[in-house]
Amino acid sequence: MSKKQFKAESKRLMDLMIHSIYTHREIFLREILSNASDAIDKLAYLSLTDDSVKVKRGDLKITVTPDKEKRTLTVSDNGIGMTAQELEQNLGTIARSGSLQFKGEMEADKAADIIGQFGVGFYSAFMVADKVTVLTRRQGEEQAWQWQSEGADGYTVTPAQRDGVGTDVIMHLKPDTEEDKYSQYLETDTLRELIRKYSDYIRHPIRMTVEVHRQKEKPENAPEDYQPEWETVSEEQTINSMVPLWQRPRSKVKQEEYDRFYQDKFLDWQAPLATITTSSEGTVTFKALLFIPAATPYDFYTREYEKGLQLYSSGVLIMDKCADLLPDCFRFVKGVVDSPDFSLNISREMLQHTGQLKIIANALEKKIKNELAKLLKDDQEKYNKFYAAFGRQLKYSVVDQYGAKKELLRDLLLFPSSQGEGLVTLKEYAQGMAEGQPFAYYVAADSVAQAARLPQVERITDQGYSILYLTDEVDEFVIQALGDAEGKTFKSVSDPDALPESDEEKARQEEQEEQAKPVLDFVKERLGDKVSAVRVSKILKSDPVCMTADGPVSLEMEKYFSRLEGGMPMRAQRVLELNAASAPYAALKAALDAGDRDKAGKYAEILYQQALLIAGLPIDDPAEYTRLVCSLMQ
Ligand code: ADP
Ligand code: MG
Repeated sequence: MSKKQFKAESKRLMDLMIHSIYTHREIFLREILSNASDAIDKLAYLSLTDDSVKVKRGDLKITVTPDKEKRTLTVSDNGIGMTAQELEQNLGTIARSGSLQFKGEMEADKAADIIGQFGVGFYSAFMVADKVTVLTRRQGEEQAWQWQSEGADGYTVTPAQRDGVGTDVIMHLKPDTEEDKYSQYLETDTLRELIRKYSDYIRHPIRMTVEVHRQKEKPENAPEDYQPEWETVSEEQTINSMVPLWQRPRSKVKQEEYDRFYQDKFLDWQAPLATITTSSEGTVTFKALLFIPAATPYDFYTREYEKGLQLYSSGVLIMDKCADLLPDCFRFVKGVVDSPDFSLNISREMLQHTGQLKIIANALEKKIKNELAKLLKDDQEKYNKFYAAFGRQLKYSVVDQYGAKKELLRDLLLFPSSQGEGLVTLKEYAQGMAEGQPFAYYVAADSVAQAARLPQVERITDQGYSILYLTDEVDEFVIQALGDAEGKTFKSVSDPDALPESDEEKARQEEQEEQAKPVLDFVKERLGDKVSAVRVSKILKSDPVCMTADGPVSLEMEKYFSRLEGGMPMRAQRVLELNAASAPYAALKAALDAGDRDKAGKYAEILYQQALLIAGLPIDDPAEYTRLVCSLMQ
């Protein structure tokens, strides 16, 4: 009996498998099981069109049998089987399947990575076995055949015996080494785990004989003080749950079932905040079952957090965290996508080429957005909880990618405001504005309480106008990216043009400015580079002083940048604003008029430091500041 040679590309792939250093060898089982399931599907299909083929639905099954003595793992199915010719065609070459991509020159380690993400079919058995025997009998034939190979140097096909139609794939496991314990694939616990992990939703039962520890039945004539006895028996069980939750109509699934599924699969001790189901038939056919966690995962805002959805193809897991399926703005979403359009053997590169992932990702983006919008409308309390956990992510995404997602996310944002307690959407804020309010005002501070107390706020609220309070460091960037609320341009309350002025007011301002010039010049000279300008304030009402900024970088932004790691030192152009109608200003002016430049200098310094304090900025030298204040009390 002569050995036949594998086709060139099969040989290369086989080499890769045999010498694979890949750690996720366990996927071989998923591959062999999915082939068995396909074979059963083919037989069931044949029976529909061919009356001579009789199958009883209930008899169709896959059996997994570890044999510790022989050191073999056997996967059997009663599917369609193969003729000798089919054995040659299917196992002697890499069939028409996706594995063909391996034809290209591929470095071993790169290939290993792809094996991890996607299977490479039947040959993956050689990752764990040094000899594979396939015993098969095709539907409609009496003669069975045996295919056998010990690796890349070839294979044999010989006539054989088999009771009934179907296929056994017998994997003779490699000897254990220091690093690799192949014998783990003989342990029913390990096998059960792998079946549940990768093949739980295969449509046909995967059966395995397991040891069960159970209580013996209580004998009829048991004495009063009968102690229950235990026994260990072997029992064949169905290991997989067969019907995926996402294939069942939503109305037929209880929320508890969804919750349990989510908690088991994504290892969360809390039930999800929201469950989303969706499906599509068209360019791409898929079903998706998505969840929004109830709390921020501890590593969510770190680099360690990996976004992604599980990708299944007809019930078989092909990728655990498929990042391309999930738009960044919704990276907190967990879940599962199942699409029969993906081949098990497709490589990651190929997958990206097909554009299918993108189509699904776009559909999911729309769906998630709509579900969140609905939640906001129907259940404000729940939405607030969501927003507390992931609102910041939405804001980051508004700013990200040059604002590409800002219109998608705009309606999902919430901010505190002067309109009352609680958060408002931009729409609600715009609707709650007073008649004639010229701009959508905002003020940034570390907290709502602090924002409401800022000196520059009073002038605006006195007009009956309302203000958004920005308390998150990313907020001002968000506001800048969005530009407006319902057509009303955003305007900082610190902007000198925040309130439109009449010509009269303008003239008065100029006059004041002119009058104050000696004072302003003195203060500027005294403070030097610490501020870029000193002005008579238009924005203060009762407070004597405040700090604002000219140019694109605000004080809040400066704080934000200074907190960044490896800091981008972005300094705001600080402007010290003085209230010319206030008593401290009058005192400063009086000192100057009296020629007491020393005292006036101290006043200028104190006003500057106070402006910093109100703005929540660090003062240059607290000890010096205290000395200064105390010196005036003497
Ligand atoms: P794919 O499943 O993508 O076609 P595989 O390498 O997994 O690629 O399998 C190659 C081929 O071998 C299958 O297409 C099928 O025709 C045949 N085959 C493998 N296992 C079985 C089986 N248990 N019963 C019948 N045919 C099988
Ligand atoms: Mg396959």
